[in-house]
Amino acid sequence: MPDTIFACIICGTFVYEEDTVPQGYPDAQPWLNRFRGIYQDREGIHLTGVSRNDENQRPEYTAPRDIHARWEDPEYDPQNDSVRFGAMTQRSVNGRYGFIFHESCWSLLEETFAPNEVPLQRLFDVCLSIPIAWDVMDWDHTYGGLHQQLDLTYSFPWEPRGMVLRNETYLEVHDPYQYFNLTGEATEHPPPTTLDGPSRQTQDPFLKLPLEILLKVAEEMDTSDVLRFRLISRSFWPIFNMQSFWLSRFRAGAERSWAQTALGPYQRD
Ligand SMILES: [Zn+2]
Repeated sequence: MPDTIFACIICGTFVYEEDTVPQGYPDAQPWLNRFRGIYQDREGIHLTGVSRNDENQRPEYTAPRDIHARWEDPEYDPQNDSVRFGAMTQRSVNGRYGFIFHESCWSLLEETFAPNEVPLQRLFDVCLSIPIAWDVMDWDHTYGGLHQQLDLTYSFPWEPRGMVLRNETYLEVHDPYQYFNLTGEATEHPPPTTLDGPSRQTQDPFLKLPLEILLKVAEEMDTSDVLRFRLISRSFWPIFNMQSFWLSRFRAGAERSWAQTALGPYQRD
């Protein structure tokens, strides 16, 4: 398996090695170790076929080069038909670097975009712009309580944020693709938003962005500008109450980074 087990960037559950399924599971959960990857090389962004996290994944990730292939296909030749790439916090392998998803989570993503294709370049760019907290992509949410942010009370502003698994037995053991297809929830799409229309509300392009992206935008702005934005865009209202935004004011190079020097080092209890 890879040196580090990383979490699926969609659901936050780890892409486990087959024989290291967490304790507390009633049965082995095959969906947890089957994954696809997207990676970049000189030719562009690519989606891999389906692979399995096992002893052959060492130290980086290996998957079928063909998106229609699976590691278990009898005609699949791991020596000639595979591609190896570094993922998440790993270094690239021969210029190939990317991210991993559970096969089930990728299938749900495809259904969400259907009948269009998942925009690989845009997805890769978004993933590249989101910080990775150790082994989990930090979207500034906790994946529904699966993870928790480390207490930053005694951390310096320039220290990276960390996320830890809250409780392994808390994990959903059900294959999300099977679950959503059984319940039909995956077919229920929210009504599309549009920039057209007479109301001022629908003319706000920021309303199309998720809160996590708006927060990243706000963190790059001066506080005064963010407060002005709140007057013209409803989408920026929640930013004011987000601790992450105010924490960003004190990071190295930010507008209030001098506060750490003025106040002196933190005093631990
Ligand atoms: Zn997943």
